[in-house]
Amino acid sequence: MTEQPKRQQNYYVTTFYQFFDWPNDLLISEHAKNLENWCKDNQIKGLIIVSQEGFNGTLASLNKLTSLKEHLTSISKSPINFKDSYTTELHPFRRMKVKLRSEIVTLGDTKISPKTKTPNGVKHISPKEWHERLQDETNTQILDVRNDFEFQMGSFKGSKNLRMNKFTEFPELIKKQEEKKELKKNEPVYMFCTGGIRCEKASLEMIEQGFNEVYQLDGGILNYIKEYPNEEFRGECFVFDHRVSLDQDLKPSSLYALCVHCGQPTEKTPFTCLQCRADSYGVCVTCIKNDSSNQTCSKNCHHHYSKGNKTKKVHKDSIIKRNAQPVLTRDNP
Ligand SMILES: [Zn+2]
Ligand SMILES: [Zn+2]
Repeated sequence: MTEQPKRQQNYYVTTFYQFFDWPNDLLISEHAKNLENWCKDNQIKGLIIVSQEGFNGTLASLNKLTSLKEHLTSISKSPINFKDSYTTELHPFRRMKVKLRSEIVTLGDTKISPKTKTPNGVKHISPKEWHERLQDETNTQILDVRNDFEFQMGSFKGSKNLRMNKFTEFPELIKKQEEKKELKKNEPVYMFCTGGIRCEKASLEMIEQGFNEVYQLDGGILNYIKEYPNEEFRGECFVFDHRVSLDQDLKPSSLYALCVHCGQPTEKTPFTCLQCRADSYGVCVTCIKNDSSNQTCSKNCHHHYSKGNKTKKVHKDSIIKRNAQPVLTRDNP
């Protein structure tokens, strides 16, 4: 049987968040369930984090997302900044899920809430204004609010890496930076993250700690790259789905993959699968170091290799289905 060539599919992807008060006619869990059902009914897949403070998510569909955007805006009753991209490869998500959390982005302090009025000293700036400010060499405090591994994949020229493992470390790391005079409270700070949500809380935290002039890039790196590809941002931008990261055209990465065994992002380093002998990539160094049987192209090949089974042809689609899920839960942007 010959395999039919797959028709190229175009997936529309959008990333968004909003801080708002949910209508109190329903429990928050009921709102979440309704939202999940609405997305499923409209053939949309992805992940939305819901809490008392609002929602935060990335969704994808073969159809344009116009009615989704209208639906979300009608729930939040306020304009939402949607960051769009698209992909022609695999669907970036396998299912539709709405998760309930205590915060839509976890700083670990529910008192810090962007729902209340933005304090003096915090300002959102557009990609255009951000771009102009970065041309001014006296602006030196450019702060990457993301995790260390995200910084390593790409960041703004001259930006500071806090070497953060998770966002809850942010308040403590800022305190240390200030004590070491690596960050100065009386000079402007320019902060950015993937889609803008982490900055919403990070900026409030910095004002709490006594910084008096904080600028945040509106809509984050995704918004900047759309208008200024190949300019001040270097490398790729990590995203929390199967695309792994986006290049300067907002297209899925050709440099990184999610490790088929542990789900962590890794550089696409070529190797030969010990089981099926296929040329492969996308297993992280740690997994191979920990167990040589991880030098296999899929969970399936790993299983057969560890059992000492004879080489067997593995259908490619089954490999894709059985590989590890990406680690999407750390900090959804
Ligand atoms: Zn791994
Ligand atoms: Zn294999």
